[in-house]
Amino acid sequence: MTCGHLQAIEAGCETAFTVDASRVTFGAGCLAEVGARARAAGMTRAALVTDRSLRALPWFEQVAGSLRAAAIDVAVFDEVAIEPTDASFEAAARFATEARVDGYVSLGGGSVIDTAKAANLYATYPAPLRAYVNAPVGDATPIPGALAPHIACPTTSGTGSEVTGIAIFDWLALEAKTGIASPRLRPTEALVDPRVTRTLPAAVVAASGMDVLSHALESFTARPFTARPAGPRPMSQGANPWSDIGCREALRILGVHLVPAVQGDDHAREQVMWAATLAGIAFGNSGVHVPHAMAYAVAGRVREFRPAGYPDAVLVPHGMAVAVNAPSVFRHLAHARDREAALLLGGEDLATRVTELMRAIGIPNGIAGVGFTAADIPALVAGTLPQQRLLANAPSPMTSDVLASLFEQALCYW
Ligand SMILES: [Zn+2]
Repeated sequence: MTCGHLQAIEAGCETAFTVDASRVTFGAGCLAEVGARARAAGMTRAALVTDRSLRALPWFEQVAGSLRAAAIDVAVFDEVAIEPTDASFEAAARFATEARVDGYVSLGGGSVIDTAKAANLYATYPAPLRAYVNAPVGDATPIPGALAPHIACPTTSGTGSEVTGIAIFDWLALEAKTGIASPRLRPTEALVDPRVTRTLPAAVVAASGMDVLSHALESFTARPFTARPAGPRPMSQGANPWSDIGCREALRILGVHLVPAVQGDDHAREQVMWAATLAGIAFGNSGVHVPHAMAYAVAGRVREFRPAGYPDAVLVPHGMAVAVNAPSVFRHLAHARDREAALLLGGEDLATRVTELMRAIGIPNGIAGVGFTAADIPALVAGTLPQQRLLANAPSPMTSDVLASLFEQALCYW
């Protein structure tokens, strides 16, 4: 039910929304500012969280050098897993505790930034891992207070983790992809330097670009904030006037620049990085829904798919796992905003335009393209149902029957 303003008050529906704005510095060369900013945030000894492959790139030395030039001690943690796990979150928290740091600088993709958030949380307010993890998997205990300063420097244009209060990981023993969500996890500020995307493989730009596209589309079509009962306002508060601004502009940019960005055009890559920032701010306020919920099942149950352009491992990169579900979900939802979204993306029909973009940038053809068959659908549905935080944000109810038909329609598109 969506209420108008007066009916909303009478029906006990939500009538207000919160703008949780992030501090963002965007532009070529801004990584050089990290030392001065860390100093201004009060850091004297920083955990520099990154991964092994980034440590070999010039950006790492630039960030470490800028911190040292500002007289900040640097303790490097480079053991972030490609997809973080309970074990890698705990290892990072142990490292931060033992290194006695008073702040965090993360340099990497979503996995790195999420790991820095978790390390900051568990080093600041020690507790068993399950304490702050989303229910029903964890206890969802509120974070007791402010965390240490964290400056996030993203190196891919996708997850938006630098502007959200969400950290996602694989809980290996439970075979569940879950996370921690709280405005307190949001990095203190983000330094978004689009130069870092110039050396990314095309396949990484394609997958992370589809993640951005789906962040914008899901936020734009999420259940409106006025459809939620009044009461404590969750971070995923539904589509609202603030998130709509970022979604519209991100979709417009992607319609023009996504394909040339994958083909290697530097200006287009810079534009897609800006779209990623805008879509990140948007979904951090509104929340995503079904394609993301389905993606956790797809990524969690992969058997043998090895994507080109990534380290040789069996995995479906997050953006790809989201993209293979998206056309099926948007066709099913037939949302009143589809036409506007399609036009912003430079097409006429939303699902058709999303499929066209997938083909143009080499995304696999549906869930069959990443190794699933119709026989896997019951397991994929079972893996999606626990994502209640996301499913509840959909514009219409998601039963197991609906999810099964969505996976069926997502098997292949062309
Ligand atoms: Zn995503």
